[in-house]
Amino acid sequence: MQTLEHSQVMRRQEFSIAAQLHLLIVEDVKADVDLMILALESAQIAFTYDIAKSQSECQHLLQTQTYDAILADYRLPQFTAYQVLQLLQASGHEIPLILVTGSLGEEAAVDCIKAGMTDYVMKERLFRLPVVLKRSLQEFELRRQQQQAAARTQLQAQQQAIINHIVHAMRETLVLDEVLQITADMLHQALGLSRCLISQPNSQAQMGIYHISAATREREHLLGHECSLYPFYKDKLLRGEMVIVRDMDENVSMAVRDAAGECNIRALIIAPLLYRQSFLGGIILHQCERERDWTEQEISLVRAISDQCAIAIHQVQLFSQVQQQLHRQQTLNQISQALNSILDPDFILQEIVRLTGECFDVDRLLIFSVDTDSVQILKEWRASDRIYSMLNLQFPKSEWIDLIDPDSDFYCRRYFHAPDYSQLPSTRIRQMQVEQASTRSVLSVPIFIRDRLFGGLSLQTTNTYRTFTHEEIYLLQQIADQAAIALYNAQSYERLEELVQQRTQELEAEKLVSETANRAKSEFLSNISHELRTPLTGILGFSGVLMEQIFGSLNAKQKQYIECIHTSGKHLLDLINDLLDLTKIEAGKEELTPETLSIEDIAQACLSLFQERCRQRGLEFHLAIASEAITCTADRRRLNQILVNLLSNALKFTDTGSITLRIEQTSQQILFSVIDTGIGIALEDCEAIFQPFHQVDSGLNRKYEGTGLGLALSRRLAQLHGGDITVRSELGRGSCFTLYLPGSRE
Ligand code: ADP
Repeated sequence: MQTLEHSQVMRRQEFSIAAQLHLLIVEDVKADVDLMILALESAQIAFTYDIAKSQSECQHLLQTQTYDAILADYRLPQFTAYQVLQLLQASGHEIPLILVTGSLGEEAAVDCIKAGMTDYVMKERLFRLPVVLKRSLQEFELRRQQQQAAARTQLQAQQQAIINHIVHAMRETLVLDEVLQITADMLHQALGLSRCLISQPNSQAQMGIYHISAATREREHLLGHECSLYPFYKDKLLRGEMVIVRDMDENVSMAVRDAAGECNIRALIIAPLLYRQSFLGGIILHQCERERDWTEQEISLVRAISDQCAIAIHQVQLFSQVQQQLHRQQTLNQISQALNSILDPDFILQEIVRLTGECFDVDRLLIFSVDTDSVQILKEWRASDRIYSMLNLQFPKSEWIDLIDPDSDFYCRRYFHAPDYSQLPSTRIRQMQVEQASTRSVLSVPIFIRDRLFGGLSLQTTNTYRTFTHEEIYLLQQIADQAAIALYNAQSYERLEELVQQRTQELEAEKLVSETANRAKSEFLSNISHELRTPLTGILGFSGVLMEQIFGSLNAKQKQYIECIHTSGKHLLDLINDLLDLTKIEAGKEELTPETLSIEDIAQACLSLFQERCRQRGLEFHLAIASEAITCTADRRRLNQILVNLLSNALKFTDTGSITLRIEQTSQQILFSVIDTGIGIALEDCEAIFQPFHQVDSGLNRKYEGTGLGLALSRRLAQLHGGDITVRSELGRGSCFTLYLPGSRE
C-alpha cells in the first residue's frame, strides 16, 4: 500500500501525553512535510506518521488506522481541510485536526476553528506546531476524561437506580418470584441484553431456569429448562467466581461453543448467587448474534445485583423456614396432644403415620418394628393409592444392615438419610425397595422405648428425590420421641390394666372366702346366741324369783350373790341381743318396716325415758326441735333403739352439765343430734368407736360399763335406713353424735 511506503517511525524522548504519537499528515508538498517533521523532532516528540495526499487516501487511512491527531494543509489539489474534517467526523474518531496553512489569513483560519477544526499553525511559524499539537492533544485528553467521567457517573447512577429498585422490590415483597422477575427485567433493559435468565438449583441439583426477562423472545421455550452451560462452569461458580465470555471464539472450548450455539449465544456472563458459601443459583446474561466487550461497570453492576439477589433469596428462604418451623411445631403439638389422649397402641401407631405423613408431604410413611430376628412394617401411610404398599411386609433382620450394625447412623446419630436411595450399595431389600416400591429418597429415625429399640419411622419419596433438611430430621426425631412416650404409656397402661384385672380377681376370690367365712360366723353366732338365750332366760327368771325371797329369806351374802348373778345375766342377755342384731344385719337378714313417724312423739318418748334419769344424775335434759321437723320415715323400733343407744352413752359418759336432743330438718335429710358435756373422745378414736367391741380405754380398770357393740349396731341400722351416724367431739368438753336419715321437707 502506498501509504505504508510513506510510513516512517521517529523515536524521540517520551511525549508527556502519549509515549508515541501516531499522526496523519494530509499534505502533498514533501518540503512542507519535512518542515512539520523537523518542527516536531526539534521539540523531541516521539511519533509515527502516515501521509495522505488525496481525499480517498485520507478516507482509507481514517477507516483503517487509529491516529492521535491530523495535521492537514488547508488546500490540496481537489480537496480542502473542510473535507478532511468531514471525513474525520464520519470516521467517529475524536482527535485533534490541526490546520497547517501558508496562504490562509488569520480570519479564515478562525472560521475553520469555528467549523470544528481544533487549531491552526502558519507555515512560516511551524516552530509553534509542537506547542499547538501538545495543547490540542491535552484538550482532547481532558475532554475525553471528562466524557468518561460523565459516562461513568451516569452509569453509576443508572446502576444505583437499578439496585435501589431491586432492593425496594425486595423490601416490598417476600414473594421471591416477583423479586427475581423484576431483577431479570431490569438487567435486560439496562444492559440491552438478548436475554437475562435467573437459575436456581432444583431437587435434582440441576440449575433450572425459573425466571427470564419478559423481553426475551424465546422465553416460553427456555422457561423451566436446565441451564445447558452451567455444568461447564460449575466449579468456578461454586467458588463464587463470575463467568465472563466476550466472544465464543477459539479460546472457548468446543463443547461450550456447541452448547452456546444452540441458543445463538455469542457473549455471556454468569454471576453466581452465593450467600455465605451456600450456592443459591445464578444470574445469566446472554448476548446473541454479536460479541460483546463487557465493560468493568457492567460487570460490577451484575456483581452488585447478584449479591443483592443472593441476600433476597436467603431472606425468603429464611422466612419460609421460619414459617415451616412454625407449621411443624404446630404439627408436633397436634401429634403429641393426639397421642397423649390415646391409650390404644394400635391406634397410636395409626395416628402417628397419618399425621406425620401429611405434615412432611412425602409419598409413603412407614412404622416398623424390630424384634430379635425380623423387621416388620406395622403401619403405613401413603399419599395416594397408586403408591406401592409395603404394609405387613416382613424381612429378616440380618439383611437390614442399618438396623443391626450398632455403628450405623441409625443407631449413633439417630437418623438414616439417603437422598438417593438407589446410590447405596445394593442388597436384596434395597433392590426390592428401589425396583418394586419405587423408593427414591429415605429418612428413617429409630423409636427407642426406655433405651430399647422398638423400631422406627421411615419417610419415603417415590416420585422425586428429596434432601431432607436438618430441621426435618430433628422434627422426625421429636415425633419418634413422642411416639415412644405414647407407646410406653399405652404399654404401661395395658400392664396396669392387666395388674388391676389380676388384683380384682384376687380380691374377688378373697371376698368370696371372707363372705363364706362371715356367713358361717354369722350363722354360728346366731345359733349359739339362740342356744345361749334359752338357759339365760332360766338364769334370769330363777335369780329374779330368788331375789324376791318367795321361797324363803336369804342372808345378806346370798342376796348379794343372787343380785350379782341377775345383773351379770342381764348384761349377757344385752350382749347376746346386740350380737344377734349385728349378725342379722351383716347377714343381710334384717328387714326394716318403715313408717311415717311423728317427730314430736319420738322426742316425747325420749324425754320420758331420760329426763328423770338425768335429773337423778344431776344433769339437765334439753329438747330442741326445729319447727320444720314434723315427721320422718323410719322403722320405729330401730329408730328408738338408735336414739336410746346414743342417749344412754351420753348419760354414761357425762358427769356434769347437760344432755340435749336436737332435731333438725334440711332439704334432703332429717338430723337427730345427741349433744353432751361429758368426757369427750380423742380425734384418733372417733372412727374406731364405730367398730364392734371398740371402747376407748378398754383396759381392765375400765370404769364404764358397756358391750362395745352399741355404736356399731346403731351405725349399721342408720345405714340400713339410707343414712349414717357421725361424731364431732372434743376431749374433756363433750361430744355430738348426729344421726342422718333421708327425708325431704313436706
Ligand atoms: P359401749 O357399750 O361401750 O358404750 P358403744 O359402741 O356404745 O359401746 O360405744 C363405744 C365406745 O365409744 C364407748 O365405750 C366409749 O368409749 C365411746 N363413747 C360412746 N359414746 C360416747 C360419749 N357420748 N362420750 C364419750 N365416749 C363415748
